[in-house]
Amino acid sequence: MPELPQLSVVIPVYNEEASLPDLFARLYPALDALGVRYEVIFVNDGSRDRSAALLREQWERRPATTRVVLFNANYGQHPAIVAGFEHCRGDRVVTMDADLQNPPEEISKLLAAMDAGHDYVGGVRRQREDSWFRRIASKAMNRLRERITRIRMTDQGCMLRAYSREIAAAIAASREISTFIPALAYTFASNPTEVDVAHSERAAGKSHYPLYKLIRLNFDLITGFSLVPLQLFSMFGMLVAALSLVAYVGVIGYRLYFVEWRDAAAVFWDRDILAFFLIGMLLFGLGLIGEYVGRIYHQVRARPRYMVRAVLERPGKEPDGR
Ligand code: UDP
Ligand code: MG
Repeated sequence: MPELPQLSVVIPVYNEEASLPDLFARLYPALDALGVRYEVIFVNDGSRDRSAALLREQWERRPATTRVVLFNANYGQHPAIVAGFEHCRGDRVVTMDADLQNPPEEISKLLAAMDAGHDYVGGVRRQREDSWFRRIASKAMNRLRERITRIRMTDQGCMLRAYSREIAAAIAASREISTFIPALAYTFASNPTEVDVAHSERAAGKSHYPLYKLIRLNFDLITGFSLVPLQLFSMFGMLVAALSLVAYVGVIGYRLYFVEWRDAAAVFWDRDILAFFLIGMLLFGLGLIGEYVGRIYHQVRARPRYMVRAVLERPGKEPDGR
């Protein structure tokens, strides 16, 4: 039985046939240079291009250091990482993207921070190479998350991160369906830290996060780690109720004491507009409750989070054969 790896690198892959050759060419030399026993776990998230075939070729080239988990369909980046965590055996686990936006050469920085005793190391993209829209949206979401959750991190979108084996195992064991791994890791970490890492433009292909998927992902983050949106609504409801009581007393008092033709309150009192405003808030609140209820529904059905079609690895090793 060969010795277990010290480092597992988990990489979710979805339609990345254009980036994979470059990734292989840079990742393996960077890991060889670290001088530790490592394994790379690629999770093919139901790619519809040649990604699975390329991963198989790479596994045949480097079977001792490569393992491939093949999903039968597309379940999303975060479930793919969870599957990687379930299959990894290293003492330390590093996650990164397949599109070379996270330079593999930066892994050594994360490991150095772990050597210093940290159990979770988050990457912070020094100079982010994405569209201006993504950068602004990320900044806004980072700020919102800082305010309404207890998760403190500088760059929630950076997937170049290192986790201790215990944290990776805790994430794999938590049966959450809609989750956001960088945040979840913070709830398990006892001594987290962050390091600056470089960031590059996408090597090839385009982002898999169009606006709609980005909004869904951020709902996962907010609903997964905060009840503040729900609580805001009860606060808002109480405030509106109190204000309308005050307004009612004021308006009636005014009508009783002043002559009709100077009824200034009527100028400000537009019931239709107020009603539209309140209906809008109500629908938004209802939708927000729906976001939580929908997730509870997913969770109570307790379906498997994903289905693995096959795992490519050397024979004689159990998936969690530690
Ligand atoms: N990814 C995935 N499943 C998906 C979407 C993305 O496994 O449904 C992977 C993708 O292959 C890449 C990583 O997640 O390795 C990040 O995706 P992408 O680069 O498209 O996101 P962005 O950098 O634009 O945030
Ligand atoms: Mg990317």
